[in-house]
Amino acid sequence: MEMTGLQIFKHLPGAQKAQNSNCKECGCPTCMAFALKLAKQNIELEKCPYVDEDLKKAYLQSIKHPQKTVCIGDLKIGGENVLYRHEKTFVNPTVLAVLVDCSKPDYKEKLKLITDFEIKGVNEVYKVDLVILKNCTQKPDCGMIKAITFEEFNGLEITKIVDEDFTKTKEILITTRTKAVKDKDDRFSAPVCVVMPEGDIFKTCAYAGYYICKYANMIVFEEFDEALFSTLITLRQNIFTNPQKPLQVEEGLYEFNNPDENSIIFLTTNFALTFFAVTNELESLEVPSYLIVIPADGMSVLTAWSAEKFTAKIVSETLKKHGIREKIKTRSIIIPGLLEHTIDELKQTVPDFEFVVGTREASEIENFVKNYFQG
Ligand code: SF4
Repeated sequence: MEMTGLQIFKHLPGAQKAQNSNCKECGCPTCMAFALKLAKQNIELEKCPYVDEDLKKAYLQSIKHPQKTVCIGDLKIGGENVLYRHEKTFVNPTVLAVLVDCSKPDYKEKLKLITDFEIKGVNEVYKVDLVILKNCTQKPDCGMIKAITFEEFNGLEITKIVDEDFTKTKEILITTRTKAVKDKDDRFSAPVCVVMPEGDIFKTCAYAGYYICKYANMIVFEEFDEALFSTLITLRQNIFTNPQKPLQVEEGLYEFNNPDENSIIFLTTNFALTFFAVTNELESLEVPSYLIVIPADGMSVLTAWSAEKFTAKIVSETLKKHGIREKIKTRSIIIPGLLEHTIDELKQTVPDFEFVVGTREASEIENFVKNYFQG
């Protein structure tokens, strides 16, 4: 656990009313100010020449990272600080790798399946993270996927477990992470990699899913299976999102069904769930349209309005920033039904546009559009 400002302060001359109390040599006005800065790691411990050995030891232990990070280029393995995601967040998603034995006659087909595989997610395309090439004399083309040799894999400073028994693997993973996080024990600070031998695909999927949750930093599969990777990547996305940060999409102008400069315009916030509910509807309509997405820290429309993240001024700035006036001739924007009460403010701030109250639910958009064009 990191030390609090108060815990640090107790060791300083200011708390002990000692000779150098609040001497300002550290550049802070008081010992308490130094303690608070140090707790946030905004100042170096060495700035105070009167720090005692007990504080030095306790502070350095408290800021020590429980788990090391091993890098393969920009791919990071490990570096985790907590046992449970809600304590802070998990940092680096479990690396999912596939072993390809280049001495096998069908290795090129296997490699093609791996490199062709992708899942489209929120603002991102997910692929296999890493290919480990065994018995390769010449590195084959692995497309966009990072590839290392088996020798390089063996040289990584990570703890490797071959998954021969679920209970054993589970125990090693839990013990290692617990000792690393709770005791900051250096013997357990290396990231952990589980190697899944060929076997029953359903068991492999269930066990690997468990290891992603607790606490594999990397999993290597001897076989590649599209369904397995799709399932595991989807699961991984749920575990490795920051619970304190709502899922959000990029602000901007999105197009549906080849719109032209006269197409209708919808508007919403950048909360991912709202965005996808609306875009699903707009995509399935046979009507070309635009969607303006307002930056609102990933908040849903009403929450954004109450937090002043949806204001007429922000709408006006977004229109300017994305050159909406230059790109589109349409001068009416359909706003979410839940924001009906903002109409007057919007009209005053953006007088060259008409704002039309749309639906409260995305599922009602289809009917709304039919009536809109008939009306
Ligand atoms: Fe307090 Fe700063 Fe002086 Fe240290 S250097 S005794 S923290 S005021």
